[in-house]
Amino acid sequence: MRPRDLNRFLEDMGWPTSPVIQPGALQAPAAKSAVADQGTSSEDPLAALALSAADCQLCRLSEKRQKVVFGEGDPHTVVMFIGEGPGAEEDRTGRPFVGQAGQLLERMLFAIGLRRDQVYITNIVKCRPPGNRDPKEDEVAACSPYLDQQIELIAPRVLVALGKPASHRLLGTSKPIGALRGRWASYKGIPLMPLFHPAYMLRTPSAKREAWADLKKIRQRLDSTDSG
Ligand code: URA
Repeated sequence: MRPRDLNRFLEDMGWPTSPVIQPGALQAPAAKSAVADQGTSSEDPLAALALSAADCQLCRLSEKRQKVVFGEGDPHTVVMFIGEGPGAEEDRTGRPFVGQAGQLLERMLFAIGLRRDQVYITNIVKCRPPGNRDPKEDEVAACSPYLDQQIELIAPRVLVALGKPASHRLLGTSKPIGALRGRWASYKGIPLMPLFHPAYMLRTPSAKREAWADLKKIRQRLDSTDSG
Protein backbone atom coordinates (compact mmCIF):
# COMPACT_ATOMS: atom_id res chain seq x y z
CA MET A 1 0.00 0.00 0.00
CA ARG A 2 1.41 3.40 -0.99
CA PRO A 3 1.57 6.11 1.71
CA ARG A 4 -1.27 8.05 0.02
CA ASP A 5 -3.45 4.96 -0.01
CA LEU A 6 -2.60 4.28 3.62
CA ASN A 7 -3.65 7.82 4.56
CA ARG A 8 -6.91 7.44 2.66
CA PHE A 9 -7.49 4.11 4.42
CA LEU A 10 -7.01 5.75 7.80
CA GLU A 11 -9.13 8.79 6.98
CA ASP A 12 -11.81 6.44 5.83
CA MET A 13 -11.79 4.86 9.26
CA GLY A 14 -12.47 8.23 10.82
CA TRP A 15 -9.61 7.72 13.24
CA PRO A 16 -8.57 10.84 15.13
CA THR A 17 -5.39 12.59 14.06
CA SER A 18 -4.14 14.00 17.33
CA PRO A 19 -2.97 12.23 20.47
CA VAL A 20 -5.39 12.30 23.39
CA ILE A 21 -2.91 11.62 26.18
CA GLN A 22 0.38 13.15 27.20
CA PRO A 23 3.71 11.37 26.70
CA GLY A 24 4.65 9.50 29.87
CA ALA A 25 1.07 9.31 31.11
CA LEU A 26 1.06 5.56 30.61
CA GLN A 27 4.23 4.79 32.46
CA ALA A 28 3.98 2.48 35.39
CA PRO A 29 5.50 3.52 38.74
CA ALA A 30 9.21 3.35 39.50
CA ALA A 31 8.90 -0.15 40.98
CA LYS A 32 9.36 -1.56 37.49
CA SER A 33 12.31 0.62 36.61
CA ALA A 34 14.81 -2.15 37.33
CA VAL A 35 14.16 -3.19 33.75
CA ALA A 36 15.99 -0.96 31.30
CA ASP A 37 16.15 -0.88 27.52
CA GLN A 38 17.12 -4.15 25.91
CA GLY A 39 20.77 -4.60 25.14
CA THR A 40 22.04 -1.79 27.35
CA SER A 41 23.10 -3.84 30.37
CA SER A 42 23.72 -7.49 30.99
CA GLU A 43 22.63 -6.90 34.62
CA ASP A 44 19.20 -6.00 33.41
CA PRO A 45 16.89 -9.05 33.25
CA LEU A 46 15.14 -8.01 30.04
CA ALA A 47 18.46 -7.16 28.39
CA ALA A 48 19.90 -10.47 29.60
CA LEU A 49 16.93 -12.28 28.11
CA ALA A 50 17.41 -10.47 24.80
CA LEU A 51 21.07 -11.47 24.83
CA SER A 52 20.21 -15.11 25.42
CA ALA A 53 17.64 -15.00 22.60
CA ALA A 54 20.18 -13.51 20.20
CA ASP A 55 21.84 -16.85 19.56
CA CYS A 56 18.81 -19.07 20.24
CA GLN A 57 18.68 -22.33 18.30
CA LEU A 58 15.68 -23.88 20.00
CA CYS A 59 13.76 -24.37 16.76
CA ARG A 60 14.22 -24.60 12.99
CA LEU A 61 13.40 -20.90 12.50
CA SER A 62 16.93 -20.14 13.72
CA GLU A 63 18.38 -21.78 10.61
CA LYS A 64 17.20 -19.21 8.11
CA ARG A 65 16.85 -16.06 10.16
CA GLN A 66 19.06 -13.03 9.63
CA LYS A 67 18.28 -11.42 13.00
CA VAL A 68 16.37 -12.40 16.10
CA VAL A 69 13.54 -9.90 16.58
CA PHE A 70 13.24 -9.87 20.35
CA GLY A 71 10.94 -6.89 20.86
CA GLU A 72 11.24 -3.20 21.60
CA GLY A 73 9.60 -0.30 23.31
CA ASP A 74 9.11 1.03 26.81
CA PRO A 75 9.93 -1.74 29.30
CA HIS A 76 7.95 0.22 31.92
CA THR A 77 4.84 0.47 29.83
CA VAL A 78 1.42 -0.66 30.91
CA VAL A 79 0.43 -2.00 27.50
CA MET A 80 2.16 -4.66 25.44
CA PHE A 81 1.32 -5.57 21.82
CA ILE A 82 2.05 -9.11 20.68
CA GLY A 83 2.10 -10.03 17.00
CA GLU A 84 2.71 -13.20 15.09
CA GLY A 85 6.31 -13.20 13.92
CA PRO A 86 8.88 -11.15 12.02
CA GLY A 87 8.50 -10.54 8.29
CA ALA A 88 11.25 -9.80 5.80
CA GLU A 89 11.88 -6.22 6.92
CA GLU A 90 11.85 -7.19 10.59
CA ASP A 91 14.27 -10.08 9.90
CA ARG A 92 16.61 -7.65 8.14
CA THR A 93 16.48 -4.93 10.81
CA GLY A 94 15.95 -6.97 13.99
CA ARG A 95 13.00 -4.72 14.91
CA PRO A 96 9.32 -5.74 15.22
CA PHE A 97 6.60 -4.21 13.06
CA VAL A 98 8.70 -2.01 10.81
CA GLY A 99 7.03 -2.94 7.51
CA GLN A 100 3.65 -1.80 6.20
CA ALA A 101 1.79 -3.57 8.99
CA GLY A 102 4.04 -1.70 11.41
CA GLN A 103 3.14 1.62 9.85
CA LEU A 104 -0.51 0.82 10.30
CA LEU A 105 0.10 -0.33 13.88
CA GLU A 106 1.73 3.02 14.61
CA ARG A 107 -1.27 4.85 13.18
CA MET A 108 -3.60 2.66 15.23
CA LEU A 109 -1.61 3.53 18.35
CA PHE A 110 -1.67 7.20 17.44
CA ALA A 111 -5.45 7.05 17.02
CA ILE A 112 -5.77 6.08 20.69
CA GLY A 113 -3.21 8.59 21.88
CA LEU A 114 -0.13 6.38 22.03
CA ARG A 115 3.28 6.59 20.47
CA ARG A 116 5.24 3.51 19.53
CA ASP A 117 7.87 4.32 22.15
CA GLN A 118 5.23 4.37 24.90
CA VAL A 119 4.29 0.71 24.42
CA TYR A 120 6.22 -2.55 24.13
CA ILE A 121 5.93 -4.53 20.90
CA THR A 122 6.95 -8.13 20.36
CA ASN A 123 5.85 -11.36 18.66
CA ILE A 124 5.00 -14.93 19.66
CA VAL A 125 8.03 -16.12 17.67
CA LYS A 126 11.21 -14.10 17.51
CA CYS A 127 12.53 -15.43 14.19
CA ARG A 128 11.00 -15.10 10.74
CA PRO A 129 8.94 -18.06 9.49
CA PRO A 130 10.12 -18.68 5.90
CA GLY A 131 7.88 -17.10 3.28
CA ASN A 132 5.90 -15.39 6.06
CA ARG A 133 3.96 -18.58 6.78
CA ASP A 134 2.20 -18.91 10.14
CA PRO A 135 4.54 -20.13 12.86
CA LYS A 136 4.11 -23.85 13.58
CA GLU A 137 2.94 -25.12 16.94
CA ASP A 138 6.35 -26.47 17.97
CA GLU A 139 8.03 -23.18 16.98
CA VAL A 140 5.55 -21.21 19.06
CA ALA A 141 6.10 -23.61 21.96
CA ALA A 142 9.89 -23.33 21.69
CA CYS A 143 9.66 -19.53 21.81
CA SER A 144 7.11 -19.44 24.63
CA PRO A 145 9.60 -19.07 27.49
CA TYR A 146 10.92 -15.84 25.92
CA LEU A 147 7.46 -14.36 25.57
CA ASP A 148 6.38 -15.43 29.03
CA GLN A 149 9.48 -13.94 30.60
CA GLN A 150 9.01 -10.70 28.67
CA ILE A 151 5.45 -10.46 29.99
CA GLU A 152 6.60 -11.27 33.51
CA LEU A 153 9.42 -8.70 33.48
CA ILE A 154 7.43 -5.91 31.86
CA ALA A 155 4.30 -6.78 33.83
CA PRO A 156 1.94 -4.71 31.69
CA ARG A 157 -1.59 -3.94 32.84
CA VAL A 158 -3.01 -4.73 29.41
CA LEU A 159 -1.97 -7.21 26.71
CA VAL A 160 -3.06 -6.86 23.09
CA ALA A 161 -2.87 -9.93 20.84
CA LEU A 162 -2.54 -8.93 17.19
CA GLY A 163 -4.20 -11.48 14.95
CA LYS A 164 -5.07 -15.15 15.07
CA PRO A 165 -1.76 -16.88 15.91
CA ALA A 166 -1.03 -14.52 18.81
CA SER A 167 -4.60 -14.80 20.10
CA HIS A 168 -4.51 -18.58 19.84
CA ARG A 169 -1.16 -18.79 21.62
CA LEU A 170 -2.26 -16.56 24.48
CA LEU A 171 -5.78 -17.87 24.87
CA GLY A 172 -5.13 -21.55 24.21
CA THR A 173 -8.02 -21.72 21.77
CA SER A 174 -8.46 -22.29 18.06
CA LYS A 175 -11.58 -20.15 17.66
CA PRO A 176 -11.63 -17.80 14.67
CA ILE A 177 -10.21 -14.35 15.34
CA GLY A 178 -13.61 -12.92 14.37
CA ALA A 179 -15.09 -14.62 17.43
CA LEU A 180 -12.26 -13.54 19.74
CA ARG A 181 -11.63 -9.92 18.77
CA GLY A 182 -13.17 -7.15 20.79
CA ARG A 183 -13.80 -9.37 23.82
CA TRP A 184 -11.72 -8.96 26.94
CA ALA A 185 -10.02 -12.16 28.02
CA SER A 186 -6.98 -12.65 30.23
CA TYR A 187 -3.54 -14.22 30.17
CA LYS A 188 -1.87 -15.09 33.46
CA GLY A 189 -4.30 -12.71 35.15
CA ILE A 190 -3.55 -9.79 32.80
CA PRO A 191 -6.47 -8.37 30.78
CA LEU A 192 -6.01 -9.33 27.14
CA MET A 193 -7.72 -7.89 24.07
CA PRO A 194 -7.48 -9.81 20.80
CA LEU A 195 -7.44 -7.50 17.79
CA PHE A 196 -7.36 -8.02 14.04
CA HIS A 197 -3.77 -8.09 12.79
CA PRO A 198 -2.79 -4.82 11.03
CA ALA A 199 -1.72 -6.83 7.95
CA TYR A 200 -5.21 -8.33 7.79
CA MET A 201 -6.72 -4.87 8.07
CA LEU A 202 -4.61 -3.67 5.14
CA ARG A 203 -6.10 -6.47 3.06
CA THR A 204 -9.62 -6.30 4.44
CA PRO A 205 -11.15 -2.82 4.54
CA SER A 206 -14.35 -4.20 6.08
CA ALA A 207 -12.39 -4.91 9.28
CA LYS A 208 -11.83 -1.20 9.91
CA ARG A 209 -15.00 -0.53 11.85
CA GLU A 210 -14.49 -3.42 14.26
CA ALA A 211 -10.83 -2.55 14.72
CA TRP A 212 -11.71 0.98 15.72
CA ALA A 213 -14.34 -0.25 18.20
CA ASP A 214 -11.74 -2.61 19.73
CA LEU A 215 -9.08 0.09 19.93
CA LYS A 216 -11.51 2.31 21.81
CA LYS A 217 -12.07 -0.48 24.34
CA ILE A 218 -8.31 -0.65 24.91
CA ARG A 219 -8.18 3.13 25.35
CA GLN A 220 -11.06 2.99 27.83
CA ARG A 221 -9.39 0.22 29.80
CA LEU A 222 -6.14 2.19 29.98
CA ASP A 223 -8.02 5.29 31.09
CA SER A 224 -9.76 3.37 33.85
CA THR A 225 -6.59 1.58 34.94
CA ASP A 226 -4.97 3.16 37.94
CA SER A 227 -1.27 3.61 37.16
CA GLY A 228 -0.31 4.18 40.79
N1 URA B 1 5.83 -7.68 11.82
C1 URA B 1 5.97 -8.24 13.04
O1 URA B 1 6.94 -7.97 13.74
N2 URA B 1 5.03 -9.07 13.45
C2 URA B 1 3.95 -9.39 12.74
O2 URA B 1 3.10 -10.14 13.21
C3 URA B 1 3.85 -8.80 11.46
C4 URA B 1 4.79 -7.95 11.03
